[in-house]
Amino acid sequence: MPNKTILLNPGPTNVSKAVIDAAAGPLFCHREPEYFTLQDEVRERLLRVMDLDPEVWAAVLIAGSGTSAMESMILAGVPEGKALLISDNGVYGDRIAKMAKAHGIPAKVVTQPWTQATDPELLAAAIEARDDFGALAVIHHETTTGLLNPVVEVGKVAKRYGLNFLVDSVSGLGGDALDFEEAGADIVASTGGKNFQGMPALSFGYARRAKLEEARAWSPRSVYLDFVNLCDKQDRRGTPFTPAVPFVAALRQALIELQEETVAGRVARYAEAARFLREGYARMGLTLWLPEGTPLSNCLTTIRLPEGRTYVELHDYLKERGFVIYAGQGQIEKEAFRIANMGNVAREDYQRLLDVLAAWVQA
Ligand SMILES: *Cc1c(COP(=O)(O)O)cnc(C)c1O
Repeated sequence: MPNKTILLNPGPTNVSKAVIDAAAGPLFCHREPEYFTLQDEVRERLLRVMDLDPEVWAAVLIAGSGTSAMESMILAGVPEGKALLISDNGVYGDRIAKMAKAHGIPAKVVTQPWTQATDPELLAAAIEARDDFGALAVIHHETTTGLLNPVVEVGKVAKRYGLNFLVDSVSGLGGDALDFEEAGADIVASTGGKNFQGMPALSFGYARRAKLEEARAWSPRSVYLDFVNLCDKQDRRGTPFTPAVPFVAALRQALIELQEETVAGRVARYAEAARFLREGYARMGLTLWLPEGTPLSNCLTTIRLPEGRTYVELHDYLKERGFVIYAGQGQIEKEAFRIANMGNVAREDYQRLLDVLAAWVQA
């Protein structure tokens, strides 16, 4: 295998050498002031990169992959005795539904085909049909297909009915624009291991402090994933459990790099990479799996497998040449595959990918 492997899967993403080095040590005790100084700095930087007012917003570190931040968000975001409305047009919307079920949170799932962006009016109709909703959850970038959901329009529906608005932007944040205030978001879940270009399995959530105050009114639905407790302890230079110390150090470095690039700059870089790659796919006769006109993220593209070819064959051909791609999810595995353009990847590597892919298509 080539000595450099480019990850074209949606996380873990390619990170800088400085991020790897930061994760490699030194280790220190998480009950010592040096850890809390690091934790404070990382939480502050998380707010600053997203241009959030620290009086209004809290950033909370969660030791666990993006799914743990999602679950923590759901558990803190649905008021006791109220129901959760879930927009589901992919695997991650479905995952939120599973979380609600596992925790006994009453939920209504509005399911749409994987090829269709969330329709805010379908959600509004579902809200009209019953009177106990307390929150609405949506996926920003549905990584299942690369579809981008209209978070701002969905947020307007949430606000119209006074619901908490919960956004899974685990694979969106940093790669696709999201203005929390414009969207009226109340809690947003994300991770270090995707577009933030840090390490996987350290996630984080952003929450309006006012919403966390409201969540104090009911008893926590989880011990480990209690957003309010995590926030309280972290606010007081503490931590309820052993944090992922090396990955917090790595996230600090990743945030320094993101601040330098700016979120807007990174979003523009991803958009440009996606455009470059999609033009290349079209030139070699590959077509996108999502119907034309579907809103696409800047981060990932689902591509139809050419007639008579298999994913395994393509995957192995690319891997031998230094690129790791991703299978189509669930029902589309046999007909399509995914290529993410997330992380720290140079233009010449994307060009080389197109060359290698074109050679395979012609072979
Ligand atoms: C990756 C992803 C998750 C889950 O993240 P893990 O780190 O795999 O737990 C959740 N939501 C979306 C939209 C994702 O892309």
